[in-house]
Amino acid sequence: MRAPDIIIAVDGCSSTGKSSFAKLLASELGFLYLDSGALYRAVTLFAMENGLISRDSVISPALHKALDGADLHFGQGGTYLGERCVEKEIRTMEVSALVSPISAEPYVRSFVDGRLHAMARNGRVVMDGRDIGTTVFPDARLKIFFTASEEVRARRRFDELKAKGESPVFEEVLDNLKKRDYIDSHRAASPLRKADDAFVLDNSDMTFTEELAWVKGLIQGKFSIME
Ligand code: C5P
Repeated sequence: MRAPDIIIAVDGCSSTGKSSFAKLLASELGFLYLDSGALYRAVTLFAMENGLISRDSVISPALHKALDGADLHFGQGGTYLGERCVEKEIRTMEVSALVSPISAEPYVRSFVDGRLHAMARNGRVVMDGRDIGTTVFPDARLKIFFTASEEVRARRRFDELKAKGESPVFEEVLDNLKKRDYIDSHRAASPLRKADDAFVLDNSDMTFTEELAWVKGLIQGKFSIME
């Protein structure tokens, strides 16, 4: 399918499967996939490694200045901090526990938004996150908002962590997910919310193939594409 040179915003709560879906959609359309959550996670790892956030989520004011010198980008195999691929480190429970307070900081948000705008300047991008359709690209031509039940989402995250060789406790995963949902949707700066013009996809009982067919149908209808 030949889609126009648009930006597709994919937003939603944690572990709705939106990242895997956005990645697949991007590859089907020949678009670039940009994972905004990975940048928030990389900022969190950067803060942890530089002693700028404590275990009880106290963020040092020095983080603001330190970010000026932080080299965060996407490269071969995922997310990089300078020369180092940190794709694995940014997905641990330690980072997950601290990422939401970090991403509630307005200066962190504007740092990440700047990176995202630079990377998406040529369009043909599928970008996933929490505020892509509301704040980062409010004019995105197609917006999809993912949702699924808490239990289903926690189970997916639990299985993902296990497959990576971690030893998660289901209740902790569920608790982390609820906490992140709460912080993400109650923060003052760009809270998680559905854009008025976003299409909602509840995938609690859908397969990947069904999700993809649903979105392809949307794109064909919206942009009058015949095949
Ligand atoms: O998508 P993922 O779960 O990896 O995102 C990690 C965290 O980054 C989220 O829980 C949220 O706190 C933050 N985030 C955000 N805005 C985005 C993407 C992610 O605040 N656009």
